[in-house]
Amino acid sequence: MAAASSTTSAETRTARRLTDSHGRIIHDLRVSITDRCNYKCVYCRTGEYGAQYPELAISDYLRLIKLFVNLGIEKVRLTGGEPLLRNGLIELVQELAGLRTSSGEPLDIALTTNGHLLDKMAAPLKAAGLNRVTVSMDAVDAPTFERITRVPGSFKKVLTGIRAAKAAGLAPLKINCVLLRGFNDNEIEGFARFAREEDVIVRFIEFMPLEEDRLWSPDIVVPLKEIVTRISSEMPLVPLAPREPSETARRYTFSDGIGEIGIIAPVSQAFCGACSRVRLTSDGKIRTCLFSQVEHDLYGRMRAGQPDTELSDYIVQTIYAKEARHHIGEPGFLKPSRSMVHIGG
Ligand code: SAM
Repeated sequence: MAAASSTTSAETRTARRLTDSHGRIIHDLRVSITDRCNYKCVYCRTGEYGAQYPELAISDYLRLIKLFVNLGIEKVRLTGGEPLLRNGLIELVQELAGLRTSSGEPLDIALTTNGHLLDKMAAPLKAAGLNRVTVSMDAVDAPTFERITRVPGSFKKVLTGIRAAKAAGLAPLKINCVLLRGFNDNEIEGFARFAREEDVIVRFIEFMPLEEDRLWSPDIVVPLKEIVTRISSEMPLVPLAPREPSETARRYTFSDGIGEIGIIAPVSQAFCGACSRVRLTSDGKIRTCLFSQVEHDLYGRMRAGQPDTELSDYIVQTIYAKEARHHIGEPGFLKPSRSMVHIGG
């Protein structure tokens, strides 16, 4: 288990690691900085705004993130809700860019966004120290896209945002597309062409039971095998070797080596055994799995005045007890109390 001390000298610094009881090293933290969103994607939101969870001050996120980084977290992904809606985002990225991991490397800072506000924010985010951005985009056909987001004009905004992010040097840029049978599964081949034409990495994600409405069923999930078969019948795919064991996407290129496609298959080919992630919700609760039935109130302890040493011990113990795996599709599966938009995707 990782130690909770905070040695800073380069000579004495030894890389700390957070581990769980299943032997997995946890080095990836996803932090939701708001659960508000300006899109109402049909597979995610009910369309009503409903109750929101509280947001912490940016300085509180920073203090909590520093604790995780001192314990061995190497990558922080800011998410939401829609993180670009959050005041103080640029300042938070600036502060994170000044942190070093426990092995002395710069922290890897990434962001997941719907891209709607990215045209104006890409360059300031890059200047603040953001390393990478992932844009969610569920169709390359504008009317289909806007039927999903339920926001008129959103396709043009997101495309402009993607191009601004590339121009700002936030590359390689990843596009995440959640596929749902009957909604956007006719977009698969179009996305493969889009990846090549726009020089972006498109990653298809299997739909998980994390929506606000009750929509999920196994029939609506478009599985990895089907995606590979369909793209290959138009443009043969060539598998790429994983870059690291905890990589969630199976990666492919095309036979001419131009373009990259990834498929994230948490339903048909779960990758829990290699999971390296934990999450912090916008109200400061640790979630050790997307499908956790329990949350761990880290911020509550901080607000009650616990010192960093005690908060660090709490993080270590909580992560040690991380669930072995999710149980999607199994009898007795329980949906988590929060949907994706309120957890932080
Ligand atoms: N607003 C940001 C965005 O759109 O990327 C960040 C939050 S959003 C909840 C993060 C990602 O979760 C998006 O790519 C979204 O498509 C994905 N997502 C939402 N619900 C999902 C579900 N039930 N299964 C799989 N992915 C889902």
